[in-house]
Amino acid sequence: MTRILTAVFKHETNTFSPLPTDLKAYAARSLRRGDAIPQHYRGTATEMGAFLDAAARHGWTLVHTVAADATPSGKVTREAFDTIVSEIEAALRHQGPFDAVLLSLHGAMVAEHTDDGEGEVLRRLRAIAGPDLPIGVTLDLHANVSNEMAALATILVSYRTYPHIDQYATGARCAELIARTISGEISPLCIVARGALLEGVDHGRTTAPGPMLEVLARADAMKAEHAGVLDISINAGFPWADIFVAGPSAVVVGDRNVEGTRYAGLAQALVEQMWDSRARQTVTPLPLAQGMAALDDALAAGGSGPVVIADCADNPGGGGLEDSTALLKALIDADVQNTAYAMISDPETLTACVEAGVGARVAVRLGGKISRQFAAPIALDALVRSLQQGRFIFTGPMSRGIALDIGPTAVLRIGGIDIVVSGSRHQVLDPGFFTHAGLEPKDYAVVVVKSTQHFRAAFGPLARQIIVIDSGDGLTSYDLKSFPFKKLRRPVYPLSA
Ligand SMILES: [Zn+2]
Repeated sequence: MTRILTAVFKHETNTFSPLPTDLKAYAARSLRRGDAIPQHYRGTATEMGAFLDAAARHGWTLVHTVAADATPSGKVTREAFDTIVSEIEAALRHQGPFDAVLLSLHGAMVAEHTDDGEGEVLRRLRAIAGPDLPIGVTLDLHANVSNEMAALATILVSYRTYPHIDQYATGARCAELIARTISGEISPLCIVARGALLEGVDHGRTTAPGPMLEVLARADAMKAEHAGVLDISINAGFPWADIFVAGPSAVVVGDRNVEGTRYAGLAQALVEQMWDSRARQTVTPLPLAQGMAALDDALAAGGSGPVVIADCADNPGGGGLEDSTALLKALIDADVQNTAYAMISDPETLTACVEAGVGARVAVRLGGKISRQFAAPIALDALVRSLQQGRFIFTGPMSRGIALDIGPTAVLRIGGIDIVVSGSRHQVLDPGFFTHAGLEPKDYAVVVVKSTQHFRAAFGPLARQIIVIDSGDGLTSYDLKSFPFKKLRRPVYPLSA
């Protein structure tokens, strides 16, 4: 009987965020153990959903430990890191023997005590497992892959789509390579290469022809042409991390049994292509004033379906605080009508809405509370349109089937704008963030989401037009020169001359 240890331990750490990522932050999104893990993930479009199906296909017994995922924010606390990793270590030590380990990680985790979260996870597991146990790891394509990660993992494979609609396919790729490793057919090793880049390959976007699709095509051609190449990942990297290795990378998984292929040379050639295409982007976010003018034009032009606006400077999916108010204030000042906005994370305002009750008017100071670095709260007298529990199942292409409970939410109406107010932080990438509150995105003229790119998977098909606005007011602004990098290697594009 083949026995495989599994775990999910994800975080994309925005080191500029003042919000620590503690166990409460994990519990607010997903923190499950043991049998609750297959129950939650079976049948979902996720890496773990694929691990479960692979186990059924191959007759493996999976030993589930912990599945932990938190919305991107500041550094993972040492307590959260140690608690979660200790549980995986304990299972590895006491519930073996195991034939392999399958880990669903992100690749851009920074903890209080280490800049390389995933490298540290792997170091601790290797210390118990020894050098030979196959460890297969799935990563987000926004991973900042360290040399240690590549040295310690047997297999590293990343998503190939942004929006990440191939989480399941990535899990399946990793599981199949692990199956071939266990059987002795292959003996994988991972090689990583990175250039003098903090951003590149168009941040990994795969929604239009451009640098990312071109580099992926080149990687596919290499895999077809060169014996022994088992997999190639193109990582766009996560730029809002002040660590030495932040930025794009190429990872080649090669078979050590095959001689004559220079895997490092292939990885380097891919990085050179990333360098050459570094300035090309398929989406150029508009500054606030230009974005509002584009909204006027889009509404005047008419058409069916909403104009979808992405508030990309404050994307909680990259560590945004989700309480930035610059864009919302511009919408209120412009008196836009028939508009739905999700979300503002503001526990104090949520409590005021709950206390006032549905149908009441409340005087609130909305958003802008977490950091003085950003725009101030908006003083408002607003109607509490509804109160509800934020419980729904993802129906869009990304993470389809996953059940989420974001806690209580309120809908505040200000002029013609319905604003979803929550007490927790989540990227608005699925219609459920509106529909759980009775708001139907397709019935609005304007829909505003706190997201940068993921929203395109579910909202793109509804949209008359998409406008991406970078107000500069938030922790995921593309103006990377405005962030105080200290540990990042130099020279590096686009910070260095
Ligand atoms: Zn990502």
